[in-house]
Formats: sequence, C-alpha cells, structure tokens
Amino acid sequence: MFSKLFIANRGEIAVRIVRACRDLGIRSVVGYSEADRDSLAVQLADESICIGPGPSAKSYLNIPNIITAALLTGCEAVHPGYGFLSENPYLPEICEHCGIVFVGPPAESLREMGDKARARERMASVGVPTVPGTNRALRNLAEAREIAASIGYPVILKAAMGGGGRGMRVARNEAELSHYYPLAEAEAETAFARADLYLEKYIERPRHVEVQVLADRHGTTLDLGTRDCSTQRRYQKVIEEAPAPALPAATLQSIAEDAVRGAAAIGYVNAGTVEFLVDGEGRYYFIEMNTRLQVEHPVTEELTGVDLVRQQIRIAAGEPIELPDREPSGHVIECRVTAEDPERDFRPVVGTVTAYRPPGGPGIRVDSHLWAGYTIPPYYDSLLAKIIARGRNRDEAIARLDRALAETVIEGVVTTVPFLRRLLASPDFRDRNLHTEAVRSLLAEAR
Ligand code: ADP
Repeated sequence: MFSKLFIANRGEIAVRIVRACRDLGIRSVVGYSEADRDSLAVQLADESICIGPGPSAKSYLNIPNIITAALLTGCEAVHPGYGFLSENPYLPEICEHCGIVFVGPPAESLREMGDKARARERMASVGVPTVPGTNRALRNLAEAREIAASIGYPVILKAAMGGGGRGMRVARNEAELSHYYPLAEAEAETAFARADLYLEKYIERPRHVEVQVLADRHGTTLDLGTRDCSTQRRYQKVIEEAPAPALPAATLQSIAEDAVRGAAAIGYVNAGTVEFLVDGEGRYYFIEMNTRLQVEHPVTEELTGVDLVRQQIRIAAGEPIELPDREPSGHVIECRVTAEDPERDFRPVVGTVTAYRPPGGPGIRVDSHLWAGYTIPPYYDSLLAKIIARGRNRDEAIARLDRALAETVIEGVVTTVPFLRRLLASPDFRDRNLHTEAVRSLLAEAR
C-alpha cells in the first residue's frame, strides 16, 4: 500500500479522499489553488501545497504543476476525484512516466469511453443495448438529417467529447435539426475542444439508471447495484437514490450484468459507472460510461457498506477488491445542496457562509467542505454539500432526508435547500414516478 497520496481536487471530494486516506493509514497531500488556501481539505490533510492561481486552468487542470507538486511532496499516487483531470488520459500517462500511480483506470479506458460515440460502438459490439443512433462522429448536417429521418424524430445531438450535461440539443423536426447543428458544433468546439457530434433518438421522459462497477487486477469485475438519477435539472443530477426504485428485479439484474460485461470487455480497472436510460416500456439503453468516482457514490456506499474510495486506492495499489461483508439493505437518497438561486434561474452565487449547522441523527450522512466563515470562490462549481439519508425503505429515507434538510442552516448565501424540500414533497417523486423532465414540470407549475 502507498504511504503518501496526492489529491488533485478540491471541495467536498478532496475532503472525502483525505478521510479515506486516514482510514487506510496513508498520508494525504492536498494540492490547492490560491483561492482554496483555507479550504477544509487543506485543514484536514496531513500536508498541502499550492498548485497555482484560482482559475482552474492554472491550477486544478494544470498537469505540470500537479505532477511537480506530487513529486516534490514525495507522493506515490495521485487521486483525481471527479471533474477536473479525472477523465483526461494525459494524467495517467504522465503519472506513469514519472513513476506515480494514477488512482483510476488505464489511459486507454479513459480514451475509449471519453469519446461517447466510440463508447457506444464498443458497448454495442459486446451486446449491450444502446439508444438508436450513430456510433461515430457525424460527417455533416446532411448525414445527420439522413440518420434522423431513418430513426425518426425527436433526436438529440450530443458532443462526442461532452460531459456535465453540456452541449446537448433536442431536435423535434428537420428544421430544428438544421438550426441546432451548427450551434451544437460550435458549443462542442468551445467547451470540449472538438466539434464532433453524434446523434441519438431522443427518449421522451426517460429514467436515468446507472450501475456502479468495480474491477481489480486480479480478474474480478463486479457491480454494486443500481442508482436512479432521474431527478435532474438541465441534464444535471439533483437527487440520486439506490437501489433504482420501481423496476422489475429482472430488469435491474440484466442492467447490472450488461454493465459488468461492458466494463470487463474493455479491460476496465478501478471504479466506474455505466449509465443507461430506461424508457416508458422498461427497455434500457447504454448512454455512456463515467471512468471515475461519481458525485453520487455515497448512496451506493451507504446501501452496500462498501467504501468506494478505499477500494479505488486498494485497486490502484494492486490489491484485490474487498468484497462487501453484508447484503445491500434499505434505501438511500442523496440530494445536492448548491449555492444557486432558484429565483434567478439557478444562477450560481458566491459569498461568505456566515453560519453553518449541518444536520445529523439516525441515517444521515453529510459530505461537505463547508465551515462557518468559509468564502465560496467564484471559479468552481456551486456544490456545497451532499446530504445522504438512509432508511429501511424509501419512505423512511425521504422522511429522514426532509428532516435533515429542515435542520440544515447555511447562512450568508442563497442555497437550494428549500427547492430540494419541494422536490422531495412533490407527488411524482413520492409516487416513484421518476423521469428526467419532472423537475422542469414542477418548476413550470410553480410559475
Ligand atoms: P453527460 O456526459 O453530459 O452527462 P449523458 O450522455 O450522460 O451526458 O446524458 C445526460 C442526461 O441527458 C441524461 O441523464 C438524460 O437526462 C439526458 N439524455 C441523454 N441522452 C438522451 C437521450 N437519447 N434521450 C433523452 N434524454 C437523454
């Protein structure tokens, strides 16, 4: 096992990794930007080192600075967390050249799954169902029109290198497709430095169901069950739960088996998530694989009792996965509390948190980097805390999560806590009528 590990991330996930290191007896070093000098991760880690100015491009995305900092501090491994460099194949490659272990999959998996059109092709080739569409980048608008006509409208244009719910456009007819095509291309080029687009059939009111997989270098690839992340705003997850409710056991099993088969087929190693959409008839289709730890990993941890970050580090050190020591039990729901103003179209807000009182009590876990006096920097995402509730069943988990949200005090900045309580109370959510457009309908009703 490693004796020292470098954390190339910030916020709650940096804190989460510091904690996993402590539990494993590994010294942690946090690489922080100038804007994160006082962060909780810096306070809790064994050591910290500045990796550059506030803007991410100069710090959390700056590979030379990160590698230098890891070498200077004598770290044997780098954990990338999620976002930032976590899916950038150059990081594991350069780590390897410098004799540092990357806590994640091989660069080749990042490459194969990072191009989502190629990922679709790969999964389809081993019999994993994919949404009807193209398995390679579209050549031009004429080709997009031809394919859309053959699979039928509506269709969704997606950036091959896309992520974070960005760069997707739904076209309901040929005129819309012609209008959106150049816009989507330009957006993809700006956001992901590659204009490549692909096209899928747009599934109406689908559910987002994903499978957590773990794979080690000793021949084990396994799944830790499903999560439902259908409660989304603008293609971004807001509430996640495990196991995915209201689906037949046979469907859940089949999705999990396909996820494991897909991961094994590409020689995947470490933790990953295979994402699917489920349509109104219960048919499911692969959409993408995330080759990293997910924001919503705690719901699986609480359901199964497996510490995923610990397993990631063990796997990277060449050790076998520790199998779960109990059956998954109960139901777990997580909500993402962000510094965004629902009254102003969820505009991110910055400021100083003047008071912070996290919730607690039976079944509650809080993953957060907040403290009273913390100033939210303007450069990064607006996640403040993940509140995770576990219950014997879904109703108990909802009741506990609502109790936790009611207890939560975050003063000084506007947060989404009241909005999350409204979502939890909505009849569709309570009745397990989950789909990706539910939040939009709820917000439209409130207007
Ligand atoms: P990203 O990598 O940006 O997260 P994904 O491919 O994972 O993009 O899709 C994110 C979300 O976008 C999905 O959870 C779903 O809500 C919506 N979406 C993606 N593809 C489709 C589709 N073919 N039909 C309907 N909704 C889709």
